[in-house]
Amino acid sequence: MLVRYDLERSVDLADVRGRASGLWRYRELLPVQGEAVSLGESETPLLSAPRLSERWRTEVFVKDESTLPSGTFKARGAAIGITRALELGIKSVVMPSAGNAGGAWALYAARAGIELTVTMARTAPAMNQMEVEMAGADLVLVDGTIADAARRAAEIARETGAFFAATFAEPYRVEGKKTAWLETFDALGDGTMAVPATIVVPVGGGVAAIAAAKAVDEVRALGWIGDGSPRLVGVQPADCAPIVRAFERGDDQVEPWPHEPTTIASGLRVPAPSEGALVLDRIRASAGTMVAVTEQEILTAVRDLASSEGIFACPEGAATVVAAEKMAADGSLEGPVVLYNTGAGAKYAAELAARSAP
Ligand SMILES: *Cc1c(COP(=O)(O)O)cnc(C)c1O
Repeated sequence: MLVRYDLERSVDLADVRGRASGLWRYRELLPVQGEAVSLGESETPLLSAPRLSERWRTEVFVKDESTLPSGTFKARGAAIGITRALELGIKSVVMPSAGNAGGAWALYAARAGIELTVTMARTAPAMNQMEVEMAGADLVLVDGTIADAARRAAEIARETGAFFAATFAEPYRVEGKKTAWLETFDALGDGTMAVPATIVVPVGGGVAAIAAAKAVDEVRALGWIGDGSPRLVGVQPADCAPIVRAFERGDDQVEPWPHEPTTIASGLRVPAPSEGALVLDRIRASAGTMVAVTEQEILTAVRDLASSEGIFACPEGAATVVAAEKMAADGSLEGPVVLYNTGAGAKYAAELAARSAP
């Protein structure tokens, strides 16, 4: 389920830019009309990455989402999802989460006075379990993976009548996550918007990837960008790479990953992405690619990005550096490049300490 807008009408980019910065300024491209449930989400920086630019001999930027409420880009989806729930008069919401979405939605639900139940795998990071509990949401832990958490959440929705807010079961979080790309294209443009040659995103459920493609389509329809189209590169950990495998085999459908993922990039522990086929389609339509990266490569990249550019990225975000590095090595990396750092490394302190001990 994806939101469609009337893009025939004209929207003046100068008007949009005249509003306060941040995701709410793009209101013509958001499915909400009422009062915003906001925690002060500011526009996140598009940081230049001079060391990586030198190394790969092309212009590199990092869209750094670590400053959002709850420390990840999940705040964007939660802000729009909970705002819409409030508008619709929904009193209670249930959702499965790999961790960060649950944390973000719990905070926005608390702000809005909406009841929230989050189902999570028992193995989800303690930090995420804690933030859900701190925010007063109900935390239901299940054995297995996010797929098992999703089954449990669907049951709870049936039993209680709560609104079922699983990824792609509702159309709002894609719209929220889309705003990261509207901000990025705005920051790259000079008077108008501009798209980079390459966008590299971590892929779990694939919302970020689909949202990036949707942002490109919509700003093109509005005449805010020219003809260039970014290649979309998706990154998964080798420990949970169902979409990479399907991409490499030339399949249109994504088979569930056969084992339970334990990757430190916990936001990417999604063995059976519900819209994997749509992710494949968007990546292929952009002439992009899918790349798998190892745990050791991810850990090295977290340190590399922090020590070379001063950006303490989450493991999911750091994985994009590894993918771009591989593309630079085989000559297929075209700039300008935007790497998507989806969250703060500090949120992963316990996991990093446990795994990078000397
Ligand atoms: C959820 C998450 C991802 C994956 O995003 P999708 O939109 O589900 O593909 C990446 N990074 C972090 C930090 C996350 O929490």
